[in-house]
Amino acid sequence: MREQALQLLQWYDRHARSMPWRVPPEDRKNGVMPDPYGVWLSEVMLQQTTVAAVRDYWRKFTDIWPTVADLAAAEDAEVMAAWAGLGYYARARNLLKCARVVVTDHGGQFPRDHATLLTLPGIGPYTAAAVAAIAFDQPETVLDGNVERVMSRIHDVHTPLPAAKPELMALAQALTPVERPGDYAQAVMDLGATICTPKSPACGICPWRDPCRARMAGTAAELPQKTPKKKVPTRRGIAYVTRRADGAWLLETRPEKGLLGGMLGWPGSDWGDAPVADPPLDADWYRLDATARHTFTHFHLELTIMTARVPADAVADRGDFIPHGTFRPAALPTVMRKVYDLASGQLIID
Ligand code: SF4
Repeated sequence: MREQALQLLQWYDRHARSMPWRVPPEDRKNGVMPDPYGVWLSEVMLQQTTVAAVRDYWRKFTDIWPTVADLAAAEDAEVMAAWAGLGYYARARNLLKCARVVVTDHGGQFPRDHATLLTLPGIGPYTAAAVAAIAFDQPETVLDGNVERVMSRIHDVHTPLPAAKPELMALAQALTPVERPGDYAQAVMDLGATICTPKSPACGICPWRDPCRARMAGTAAELPQKTPKKKVPTRRGIAYVTRRADGAWLLETRPEKGLLGGMLGWPGSDWGDAPVADPPLDADWYRLDATARHTFTHFHLELTIMTARVPADAVADRGDFIPHGTFRPAALPTVMRKVYDLASGQLIID
């Protein structure tokens, strides 16, 4: 084995972090391997949050659903409820889909190789490499944010991310050993998480301090370089929240094309630099002091909120009055829900 990989593995043998889904290096050397289901579950959860937060979620999931077959047989709603707090429900839906495909197409056994793992729902190149390496000791290279940082430093790479990814991947691959690749993958991650940290790398106790070029050049704290994020513009708009005397709310379905296409929302102006007033009906409009703020991928939105109470026989130029009993604020897209949360207190009907 190459000297550099060996140095890191020797460090890992002494300092491996303890994690409920991990088999410690001394046990792995005796042939104990982790449950691929547990490894996969931890990797999907770790895409969302930190190791500290994942521990409890991982324990909860494996208590309720100890095997991939148990998870595959679970009710969707139960899994969504257990996932609450971990963010992006799309990941939880893919988690469930993946468990079901493993059961139906792979006899309940996770595939061992990177290419087949990649065909499973919700598994991208990173997760496929992590599961193949950690659960099956395949010599796959795992490149997450921690590993990118470590690679950019030991090789003193100044190309900014994300353009540097292929270069960092090639450098990481060149270091990956064929012996103990699962421990090695976890060792590089641990090194990035505990020693080669973003702000103040502890070079003095690092197992790679001798070969590390950034340490020699004094550039470690500047790496990895990142392409500056483009400044996100701010657009402004007006949202009109109207409530009829019988409790109904005036909402409209947004046009199919465009942002929030086909979703329910408050009638409003266009979103731009200087929105033009465009109320959906004549009323005595009241402007709220609070503004609803939301960030989309390419812009920030600030919505001025106008509210009005109107008689039970009021007719709107656009949109439909939805009876209070059937109106579900939770079904609104987030920005429209924010408007509702700010406006509803002004429009309570006795
Ligand atoms: S020597 Fe310092 S910069 Fe280099 S890998 Fe170790 S902790 Fe990171």
